[in-house]
Amino acid sequence: MKLVLVSAVALIDDRGRILLAQRPEGKSLAGLWEFPGGKIEPGESPETALVRELAEELGIVVDPADLTPLTFASHAYDSFHLMMPLFACRRWTGTPTGREGQALDWAEVGALESYPMPPADLPLLPSLRAIL
Ligand code: C5P
Repeated sequence: MKLVLVSAVALIDDRGRILLAQRPEGKSLAGLWEFPGGKIEPGESPETALVRELAEELGIVVDPADLTPLTFASHAYDSFHLMMPLFACRRWTGTPTGREGQALDWAEVGALESYPMPPADLPLLPSLRAIL
């Protein structure tokens, strides 16, 4: 089974809300709300991959020192196995913008369940709630 490594982050604002990004039409799992992030390329750490992806996808600058490892997902999709560390981050520079056309939403903790999520992301919620 192919192994896919993705690094993801819960960006938490000063009101304790979490940023979710909607997977756009044309991508797998289109319409579902996920923690932002992306594939870890060869030679990258999970942190450097996230810093790169967050600049590309959201237009924000993150200091790797502000990424706190929280938990990780291990999920068997039909054609690959996804391993996905989730970081928490409360500090960044710039305003997150959907630079690849993806919708963004700041979710209240109590409303996280109402966002349909990819199956790999769902099991991450208890660890996230525990720090909010
Ligand atoms: O975003 P991208 O399509 O490059 O991610 C690779 C795969 O990882 C996706 O097809 C999706 O199945 C999975 N993924 C996920 N949850 C995320 C990000 C990606 O399940 N937060």
